[in-house]
Amino acid sequence: MTDKEYLKTQENIINISRQLHDIGLLVRTWGNISCRIDEDHFLITPSGIKYEDLIPEMIVPVNIKDLTYVGDYLPSSELKVHAAAYRVRKDCNFIVHTHQVYASCAGTLGMKKIFSYYEDDDMTIPVAPYEAPGTDALAQSVSRTLKKFKTSNGIIMSNHGTLCLGTNSDEAVYEAEMMESAACNFLSDVCKMDMPHGVEEMFSSHLENGRIIYKEKDTPERVKSIHKAIYAKRPDVKYIIHNKSEAVMMVSRRASHMKPLLDDFAQLIGTSVKIPANDAELYHQIKKNVNVVFVPDDGAYCLGATADDAEAVGIVLDKGCIAYIAVMRNGEGHYISFFDCLKMNRHYKKTYSKLADIGVSQ
Ligand SMILES: [Zn+2]
Repeated sequence: MTDKEYLKTQENIINISRQLHDIGLLVRTWGNISCRIDEDHFLITPSGIKYEDLIPEMIVPVNIKDLTYVGDYLPSSELKVHAAAYRVRKDCNFIVHTHQVYASCAGTLGMKKIFSYYEDDDMTIPVAPYEAPGTDALAQSVSRTLKKFKTSNGIIMSNHGTLCLGTNSDEAVYEAEMMESAACNFLSDVCKMDMPHGVEEMFSSHLENGRIIYKEKDTPERVKSIHKAIYAKRPDVKYIIHNKSEAVMMVSRRASHMKPLLDDFAQLIGTSVKIPANDAELYHQIKKNVNVVFVPDDGAYCLGATADDAEAVGIVLDKGCIAYIAVMRNGEGHYISFFDCLKMNRHYKKTYSKLADIGVSQ
């Protein structure tokens, strides 16, 4: 590969990441993209850098066999999964890993494969059994699943996200799009849900020189008292986003307790979230290690040290609620063990504070 071709490959990875971002399949820094450049190497997006900030030299070359890499940037923490897929699938030259909403949620139901359709064609999406992110065990689970389903160009990684393969970038992106559409059809057919995703912001606020600034002038006193209580109990919180998305509202109305069904929920929100009953004291569930405060029949407050953090919690909570509803309607699901949740939550906090220390945006 000439220098010019190498640069072009790096640029293509960045372009594809923006394209996936634009169509909503990649959000923030979640997910990663790689491209095989020769028999022994692939290029992959770096860890913890937003897609809009990517430049070609940040795309990291990794050795498929021993996972060594060169350069100043850390490769994505899922490099083992990418390497495993390139080893099994010699025809694959491009891989997209996303945390896309519907496919990730369909992957929490404990099924080995998802039967659905895309337009007029039947589609079977294999689900790789759960292992914690970043581990050798997860790479092995992906490897086994790809060997078993030899013709599948896309699989779901249970309780986490997707892995989409192609001989080129167009094919991998197309696979991710097809999968999301098929997963959406599946949730609608099997779980009888037709739910939009995203954050529906209502009464948000932030702290400025110790004063609470409410985004909406007509924020009711009842809501203000909850904001005040949160800031008083959580000195680390500077931003609160009140999320009233359809899924969050439904959970705030019906559920009493949420355990993580998705890795990013365990990482960003906490290992367990209580939803107070209608007659309970409104804000008795402000906890040190839980970044969400539910209010009965009024959505949830999403907490963060920055506006970005609070928004991330809002997005992940909405997806977590869609998964929760899917599992309830399906009658069963696969929950992540408490031990795995705790480990991920601690690891995420440690990594995040390290990144913040050196001024890298998450
Ligand atoms: Zn991931």
